[in-house]
Amino acid sequence: MANPINYDVAILGSGPGGYVAAIRAGQLGLKTLVIEKDPHFGGTCLHVGCIPSKVFLHTAELLDQVRQAGVHGVVVEGIRLDWAALLKRKARIIKKNAGGVAFLLRKNNVETLTGFGRIVSPGKLEVETAEGAQPVSAKAIIVATGSEPRSIPGVVIDGQNIVTNTEMLDLPSRPQSLGVIGAGAVGVEFASMFQSFGTKVTLIEALPRLVPVEDEEVSAILLESFQKRGIETMVGTRVEGVSEAEEGVTVRFTQADGTTEERNVTKLLVAVGRKSRTDGIGLELTAVELDRGNVVVDEYMETAARGIYAIGDVVATQQLAHVASAEAILAVERIAGHAAARPLNYTHMPGATYCRPEIGSVGLTEAAAKEQGYDVKVGRFPFAASAKATILGDNEGFVKVVSDAKYDELLGVHIIGPHATGLIAEAVVALEHEATAESLMRTVHAHPTLSEAVAEAAHVAVEMSIHV
Ligand code: NAD
Repeated sequence: MANPINYDVAILGSGPGGYVAAIRAGQLGLKTLVIEKDPHFGGTCLHVGCIPSKVFLHTAELLDQVRQAGVHGVVVEGIRLDWAALLKRKARIIKKNAGGVAFLLRKNNVETLTGFGRIVSPGKLEVETAEGAQPVSAKAIIVATGSEPRSIPGVVIDGQNIVTNTEMLDLPSRPQSLGVIGAGAVGVEFASMFQSFGTKVTLIEALPRLVPVEDEEVSAILLESFQKRGIETMVGTRVEGVSEAEEGVTVRFTQADGTTEERNVTKLLVAVGRKSRTDGIGLELTAVELDRGNVVVDEYMETAARGIYAIGDVVATQQLAHVASAEAILAVERIAGHAAARPLNYTHMPGATYCRPEIGSVGLTEAAAKEQGYDVKVGRFPFAASAKATILGDNEGFVKVVSDAKYDELLGVHIIGPHATGLIAEAVVALEHEATAESLMRTVHAHPTLSEAVAEAAHVAVEMSIHV
């Protein structure tokens, strides 16, 4: 075994947590190593998650737009989905971005090692590389190993007909029909895109509404929209089991009213959440604590084992790429003793779901605000009243502003409709700066833009509505 190389920071994993931590560490002058088990950098987000799924969603959106181009005076004939071209484009985009990550690591003097890394004692790791075991020592270790899809009892993911997001993004052809278990972000995004691709989609959610973490009114609009589009959508429905069918899978479920039914589907996507990847990385040899499978950290991302930090999907915060990246910067700045290191406000993390209609949200839902004892004011502005949305031919949805009646502080903003995932950014800034509904209302928004809808919702919240 070679002699250990000494680093200031060694990072396990190169997803949006790990590689961002590495770049920031390099910038701060720390001698940094990223250990990655896969042959490429970027993790789940870049290879089988956010990026490829958004490539698919973009194609789905284009298809929908081209189908209704006639309304806009553009005549398009012979529309068809070229599945092979879509897969090629996806692969090209992933390759380009993976190259970008590798370039940024080099640019910031980060060293990399390909192999499975595990902690052997505080400050010491061993990496199983193609050339054999490589010891590494580091003053600080950051665990950024991510997560993987989980299943439910009675449903075994076989990677063939019963699949996860990973296989869905690499199918050799478009399936005739698709069953989706779970209507969180993964479930609604895949249901939405495959319906646009022409697949018959059945979406099954155990809780009484779609996207249960969102504001209830957002869930209601999404349900209505999915049903209008012909997605068979069932909420309050329990999957009882699955069995092999002649072609594909039979899924049995019990609906809210107690009736049991089944559907045959070509593919069944299991989208019931993800579990932290903590197996085999040596955490049991340290003082690191786990809670329900997640690594327990303090507000600076440090575990109970001093010098070992954890970020991203392995900890119990929102499993979102941008949250992982924010935690990465915090952990590294803390390690470096940088003055800017301050705990994150998780209530201000934006949510962005890229189904059609899109969803963007930040802060408290109306129900959560009430539960926390706020006397709540709500302002809603429908995109039906937005000139820009009408020009786009996309009037679905609304902006909902939730504020505190006493001090007028903005508590949450919930958007469902055109470009909601981008529109939410100004609401995040507003919440981060403790803006009031009135200050958002008095901030002048360009006309005609979709962003006006955010200001208009604030107008309604302060009871000075102009356009509704
Ligand atoms: P999730 O936890 O967000 O949603 C899972 C859904 O499955 C829940 O609504 C749950 O009620 C439902 N469910 C659980 N058991 C069920 C059962 N037996 N029958 C029917 N429904 C059942 O998980 P996900 O959608 O798999 O996503 C995993 C993580 O990745 C989440 O944290 C998600 O936010 C994140 N993600 C985010 C994005 C995005 O931000 N655009 C996209 C994809 C994934």
